Amino acid sequence: MKVGRVLFDSVGRVSALRPGLDAVLTVVFASSCAACGDLLDEPTKGPVCRRCWRSILPLTPPLCDGCGDPLPSWRSISLPLGQCPRCRRTRRQVDRARAIGEYDGALREIVHALKYEGRRSLARPLAALMRERAGTLISEADASVAVPLHPSRLRERGFNQAADLARHLGLPIVPALRRVRATATQTSLPAAQRHRNVRHAFATTRRVCALHGRAVLLVDDVSTTGATLEACARVLKEAGVRTVLALTAARVVDRRQ
Ligand SMILES: [Zn+2]
Ligand SMILES: [Zn+2]
Repeated sequence: MKVGRVLFDSVGRVSALRPGLDAVLTVVFASSCAACGDLLDEPTKGPVCRRCWRSILPLTPPLCDGCGDPLPSWRSISLPLGQCPRCRRTRRQVDRARAIGEYDGALREIVHALKYEGRRSLARPLAALMRERAGTLISEADASVAVPLHPSRLRERGFNQAADLARHLGLPIVPALRRVRATATQTSLPAAQRHRNVRHAFATTRRVCALHGRAVLLVDDVSTTGATLEACARVLKEAGVRTVLALTAARVVDRRQ
């Protein structure tokens, strides 16, 4: 399967030969969509079928002006600031956050395929969707900073999916953060422990000097409780960054609030 995947990634660039190649690849490799598992009609257009890409819906407005979570619609009328209860309760380090959509369905499968199956060619189309749904976040930012992996995790995975996404967002990338503590995977922890788990996990690098007084776009694949983004934003602001905006491919939506 790995040979087939490498071949897809390389033939993806040979557009003139596409129709013939699609026919050959469909027969020879019988490749299936990385999200839904159906047979791909056009394997040269990437490892996810068109139906899956189209099924990824944006979060339904009204959205919280801060974290980007959907607000119950009656709240948009009663709250002049349009912020969710959590954002009003606590002062956040991330000034505004947005995502392509909810961490569910095809989007969840695509992020999974990128991160855990090494389908790195998915970073480009995912980043294109992030740009499309980022509102004004990208135009407001001076540079992007990818949420780093701990060196041991990076060695194990071979790449940082957040850096792959940041590379296609069109902003200068500044490696201003490093992960100084290997933390337990956030998804294995209850929400209350996640902030504690990542609190001292990040530090700035010398490159952060370039971001003094600037607006930074923090990039990651998934925001679960926002704890990782908050921890990153805290150290960036302590180092003099003026504004931290956050853009992720997907977002886990807490509907209990
Ligand atoms: Zn599919
Ligand atoms: Zn909020």
